[in-house]
Amino acid sequence: MRPAGPRGACGEDAEGRGPPVPGEPPVTHPERPTIRVLPPDAAERIAAGEVVERPASVVKELVENSLDAGARRIVIEVEKAGLRLIRVTDDGEGIPARELGLAFERFATSKIRSAEDLRRVRTYGFRGEALPSIAAVARVTVETCARGEAAGAELRVVGGDRGSPVPRSRAEGTTVTVEDLFFNTPARRAFLKSERSELALVVATVEALALAAPEVAFRLLEEGREVVWAPPESFVERAQRILGVRDRGQLLLVEARSPSADLVAVLGTPQLAQRRRTLQWFLVNGRPVRSPLLARALDQAYHTLVPEDRYPVAVLSLRVRPEDLDVNVHPRKAEVRFARERDVFDDVVRELSRALRRVPLVPVVTGPSRADPSPSLGEAGAQEPLLVAEPGGEVAPSGRFPPIRVMGQIAHTYIVGESEGDLLLLDQHAAHERVLYERLLARRRAGAPLAQALLVPVVLELTASEAEFLAEARPAFEAWGFEVEPFGPRAVRLRAVPEIAAERRPAELFRACLHDLREDVGRAAAEGLEERVAIATACHTAIRAGDRLSPEAMAALVADLARTEDPFSCFHGRPTLVRVRVHEIERWFYRKG
Ligand code: ADP
Ligand code: MG
Repeated sequence: MRPAGPRGACGEDAEGRGPPVPGEPPVTHPERPTIRVLPPDAAERIAAGEVVERPASVVKELVENSLDAGARRIVIEVEKAGLRLIRVTDDGEGIPARELGLAFERFATSKIRSAEDLRRVRTYGFRGEALPSIAAVARVTVETCARGEAAGAELRVVGGDRGSPVPRSRAEGTTVTVEDLFFNTPARRAFLKSERSELALVVATVEALALAAPEVAFRLLEEGREVVWAPPESFVERAQRILGVRDRGQLLLVEARSPSADLVAVLGTPQLAQRRRTLQWFLVNGRPVRSPLLARALDQAYHTLVPEDRYPVAVLSLRVRPEDLDVNVHPRKAEVRFARERDVFDDVVRELSRALRRVPLVPVVTGPSRADPSPSLGEAGAQEPLLVAEPGGEVAPSGRFPPIRVMGQIAHTYIVGESEGDLLLLDQHAAHERVLYERLLARRRAGAPLAQALLVPVVLELTASEAEFLAEARPAFEAWGFEVEPFGPRAVRLRAVPEIAAERRPAELFRACLHDLREDVGRAAAEGLEERVAIATACHTAIRAGDRLSPEAMAALVADLARTEDPFSCFHGRPTLVRVRVHEIERWFYRKG
């Protein structure tokens, strides 16, 4: 029996394996415990619910059994998204022939012995429910040969009816074949999604477990076609493979210890962010889980680094003390519960934010060339090293900002500069938005006066719905230095605006901000009106696309940007600057490669 998760993942190499599990003894390999039926008090405490919901649940249970058996190589075959056939073959320690029948009893397991053990589960499985649940709704055949046994055995169970084990010769390990899933429960078939969706879930299940055990080789075949292949490799290599990121320079490795959890993460640069969350993977104590908590932590760490409709790509592996984690809360073990949820969230956000703010995040863009005629984002040089956020040691925020020689402006919209021989383009509006936004926040943090009184207050007429909205939003406006007071039933008098916007026309600015806020009331509720006011103020104060800038103004803007905490994106998550590598330019002129 092996412990759950990335085995030996405990900080044994610098390649990003998990740090040691707090309070866990070193891994040993005792004799395989025999399978026994759990006592009733333990069985009663197993999280109730349907174990076999769809083909992916079967795949998950079988592969987890293979991992618990110490397999080094796991092959998964499916036909018709797993409905016709699922076969999992491993080279693990096998099941002794005399225990084979017992493996199909409910609550029969070799992994825990008592209710007490539920608090310190170290294997993927622990409930002894998977094999009987699967065999109740399919035709199951197990062929196995246990370590140290002269002969193997085969057992067939159809819709719960168990045959007798017969001798079967095979190499050490186990093959479980599941045919005609739900053949006797047509109602359950009705709850399935399309074959394509079910297959996608199977693939995702295999990928999640492959992330959990990078030292194990995985192969998934669908109707004989190889869908997943992963040789034994490091955690970072496995993460890169599953995230499908070609260029390691686009990935950031984070290793951190915090009071609530030890964290190893592979983060994609903001440039890789996707429109869906499908490339976010979470492991907790080696177990792949769904975690709205950790998904929110990711959003928070990338806040303003990616647009709101994009989701960062990442693999997060957390280790917490086993007693701080309840793994017995979900029938398919898809979710876990942290005892210190708030601390975990705060610690993860803090560590990820720090790491993301230590490295340069200038998107590298490529243009048309002979090899690649279509312009695309995100193709940094192939041999760039993995970004590594240096642990400890304070790096000044401008330390990661590239040196830039400003050369001019194009289309009155982009500032053109040179950096280390490369071409840099800055979006003047996005850059100035970032500068103003951080200035606004900094002034408020420092308790500096935010309001600039107008010499002549301005009276604005509002529509009924504007007036109604403002009644609710007024405190948020005032938090940033707007001073606005009712002036009759449908009008307001504006007496001050935020200091950063002193140069702008006050009435236009206020109206524009009010308009923006009403546009995204739905979001405002979630995000906080105050932040929205700050964003709108910075946005409507910033230099616009189309504004002509003097060389001095450009240089000042770039210098201001370099001093911000997040210089590489505006608060909408759009990039403020992009880099075109000189060797990319050389390709355009057919000089090289
Ligand atoms: P659980 O994994 O919760 O113990 P299962 O029903 O999945 O329950 O499996 C029952 C028992 O069968 C396991 O405890 C294990 O001893 C044995 N077993 C199942 N699959 C394998 C396998 N692939 N290799 C070795 N032993 C296995
Ligand atoms: Mg199991």
